[in-house]
Amino acid sequence: MTPEICQAGHPVLRQRALAVPEADILKDGCQHLIREMIAAMREAPGVGLAAPQIGVSLQIAVIEDRPEYLARWTPENLREFERIPVPLHVIINPELELLEQENAEQQAVFFEGCLSVAGFGALVPRAKRVRLRCLNERAEAVELEASGWHARILQHEVDHLHGRLYLDRMLSRSFCTQQQMPYWTEKPVAEVCRELGIDLVR
Ligand code: ZN
Repeated sequence: MTPEICQAGHPVLRQRALAVPEADILKDGCQHLIREMIAAMREAPGVGLAAPQIGVSLQIAVIEDRPEYLARWTPENLREFERIPVPLHVIINPELELLEQENAEQQAVFFEGCLSVAGFGALVPRAKRVRLRCLNERAEAVELEASGWHARILQHEVDHLHGRLYLDRMLSRSFCTQQQMPYWTEKPVAEVCRELGIDLVR
């Protein structure tokens, strides 16, 4: 059985997750946890899942944006989101560096959701590019740079490992249910912000 996903209000989602000792990564317990996280992410389905979301306060997250998830968006949307498929990868003890953060224009603002805030979404400003250093599931050191939607996913998952939810970063006037979401996502973000009275240049 795949593990249940903890919902907002669960204390584990607000704790700073512990780093995984490098020597533990290849052990059965950690490998089993990673397999469970991948299964829970795919079952949900979601494009990322952090260990605290299944009640384990360790710095591990899994990420995967499958081609079939992109099918509900138009090519224009995907270009706007800078969203392309991302093969499954595992990040452990990540250090994230935000790139090109000098002004608001270099942030991307899009609707984002979370498996731990089921049924809701909101506009969340995120850095467009990030650099990430971490270990992978084979305990190898990895450094990667990501942009667009992949950069957004990484920021979202690393936030989970620090006890943060997108609720802490969202433009709160845009918070809405999944039922209401299409009304907003059909419009350009600039128009959404005008309609909601959100001043993007903060
Ligand atoms: Zn989340």
